Amino acid sequence: MPRHATNAGTSRALNRRLIVNEIRRAGSIARSELADLTGLSGAAVTFITSELIEEGLLREDPDSAGQRRRPLSLNYSNHFAIGIKLTETELQGVLTDLSTTVIARQRRAVDAHQPEQVATACAELALELIAQSGTPVSRVSGIGLALPGIVDARQGIVTESGRIGWHYVPVARLIAEKAGLRVWVDNDVNAFALGEHLFGLGRQAQSVAAMTIGRGVGAGLVVNGGIFRGHRGGAGEVGHIPIAIDGRLCECGRHGCLEAYVSEQSIVKQLHERSDDYRKCSADDVLALAQSGNFDALAVLDRAGGGLGRGLAALVNMFDPEVLVLGGEGVRFLPYFKKAMTGEFERLAFGEKRRIDVHEWNDDAWTRGAAGLVVQQFFNFDVPPGASPIRAAEGEAEPVGETLELSYRPL
Ligand SMILES: [Zn+2]
Repeated sequence: MPRHATNAGTSRALNRRLIVNEIRRAGSIARSELADLTGLSGAAVTFITSELIEEGLLREDPDSAGQRRRPLSLNYSNHFAIGIKLTETELQGVLTDLSTTVIARQRRAVDAHQPEQVATACAELALELIAQSGTPVSRVSGIGLALPGIVDARQGIVTESGRIGWHYVPVARLIAEKAGLRVWVDNDVNAFALGEHLFGLGRQAQSVAAMTIGRGVGAGLVVNGGIFRGHRGGAGEVGHIPIAIDGRLCECGRHGCLEAYVSEQSIVKQLHERSDDYRKCSADDVLALAQSGNFDALAVLDRAGGGLGRGLAALVNMFDPEVLVLGGEGVRFLPYFKKAMTGEFERLAFGEKRRIDVHEWNDDAWTRGAAGLVVQQFFNFDVPPGASPIRAAEGEAEPVGETLELSYRPL
């Protein structure tokens, strides 16, 4: 019966997911330990792991040759993912293996306000990465796109992005049609949080909260291995947590938001307000001034650090995550944020003393998170391993905007 078949298929995928995730967390692990951790029988573990070895997803530890019970590890190098981060002016792309280790990188300028142009550029960038790295296209599991905004990740639609002016753009479909590869799209901070959960600072944790600071302030939440999205995909808008009553005016039109103190523009603006002498200063100039001991720059960064500590405490009090990660381009200000940030955080966060894990930020952090969108699907077995790339649709692409009836669904 179809119902029975579906359940059997689902439970097979769930058991595989369970095993693969335990191995990802452990690095290398014996079959008997896998049975203990997953609650599956020894026979089931042996059966599933043999299948996965045959498919090239698992391997017996090469260092254990000759041992009777060889531990298992994931084989990350048989399949590949493409991760792309969209900013207002640029696409940054990487091709990675399944551990999101970067194999090739590309960048190209783009006007993010033009969805069709972005989709074409994403497809071209992906194909360039594949060619540059000499990867067979059949081994590329898909493209993950990370961008600022609220995303319906199930349907691959950007519901709303004020930053790039998109409203109901079915961007996953647009790229898939041009690239002939599967495409997943998500909010950039969600993708970063997922990347930290899969292979970063939150690898061992079931729940991770990641806050990023920079052009804006956002948070991504991973709960029980999946991204917590909220009802419409808008969870994690922590930039607009009110941290002061009648405080500074925010870009969103409200007063007292975290972002009005901590985003790079707000930092620059607060320095301008202190004296006209600073009117031409950029965010990098604020940092240089702080490094040279400038009183005004230090005062602005100290205040921003205090605001950040309050925002982090609010996040922790609301979600009680196992791991709390701070990332984003703005972490370069950390030496000047730190004292006030820790002070406010410790004063306001409930419960036992907590750590803030600060990500050593680099250019690959966003793109590796984007590649993680593909890797997660791959290891969830929602897409069959080795699934052939989808064929590009024939004829004209449907008009962008308001299109909710999609012929292609990324999941
Ligand atoms: Zn706001």
